[in-house]
Amino acid sequence: MALYIDSSSQLHHDLEKNLVVTCPHCQAVSHITPSAVPRFEDLQLYRPRQVGLVYLCDACHMPIFLRFTVRVYGATRIELSPQFTEVERAREKFSFTYVPEDVELLFREALSCFSQGAFNAFASMCRRTAQAMFVDLGEAGRLRSFDELNAVRELANIAPEIFTKMKNVLFGVELDLRSPLPLLDGYEAGIMLEVVKDLLYEAYVRKGKLQQAIMVRRFFLEETGAHVAPFVPAS
Ligand SMILES: [Zn+2]
Repeated sequence: MALYIDSSSQLHHDLEKNLVVTCPHCQAVSHITPSAVPRFEDLQLYRPRQVGLVYLCDACHMPIFLRFTVRVYGATRIELSPQFTEVERAREKFSFTYVPEDVELLFREALSCFSQGAFNAFASMCRRTAQAMFVDLGEAGRLRSFDELNAVRELANIAPEIFTKMKNVLFGVELDLRSPLPLLDGYEAGIMLEVVKDLLYEAYVRKGKLQQAIMVRRFFLEETGAHVAPFVPAS
């Protein structure tokens, strides 16, 4: 597998065809095409440990910045490690209709932390989100959320060690105020993100949608009822 910049500042990438990211602009999972490569002479002169390349999203043509670690500064080529960092990550989204304001505020910050790759800050904000949820939902709601978390474990077949961490982050404080937060890596945080979204959906969004739909039905029933003369059967 080769990834290097040659002495005429051209980028060579064996697996260029497979280069796919989630675009931070259009959110599509899209192939990206290199559009700006640093000059070979500049890199040779300053020899930075990392170099930045600009790509174009094939779907929306907006720029995407990737950062690569340099492996070797050769005389005729600069070899890069194929792993890259996405400088700007796709923003995580969630529809907050029906979610109480204080829960929304905290979970929005959790989403920002996740989008920035600050996974432990994300875990801290998930704990605060859960605490705000439990204050709002009361004891019965907290127990329902706990059951929901257990149900999700089986549905999604979550590995036991990740599940234990999630339980600790979300419910740890309820058992012991001093319970420390476990450390999360990107993979674990990604699973946690989906699970917390699901808990919020179950606790608020699903109920809100259902109540709204029933209210609309009742409204139309009352509307038509008021304008239609009662049916009197002929005797
Ligand atoms: Zn795009």
